[in-house]
Amino acid sequence: MTTIRKRPQPNGALHNAAMRGTWKALRTSRGMSATLVCPGCGLVGLLDEHEIAADGTVRPLVQCPGAGCSFHDTVRLDGWSAA
Ligand SMILES: [Zn+2]
Repeated sequence: MTTIRKRPQPNGALHNAAMRGTWKALRTSRGMSATLVCPGCGLVGLLDEHEIAADGTVRPLVQCPGAGCSFHDTVRLDGWSAA
């Protein structure tokens, strides 16, 4: 389980190492989702094909598509409150 921190405002530069392991809420046509910056490589991904539980637990496992990145874990979005 990897805990992902809520990304502070303003967004800042996504390539900044400090942005790794953070999430930000995103409204989609199917409801609230989130973008996640991979804790391993910094690639930005959208969790629109995942379920985000009320406590922020994301299912299924998040697997980073980044080349050479091995991040593959259950993640929990700290501070998630979208309902
Ligand atoms: Zn990655």
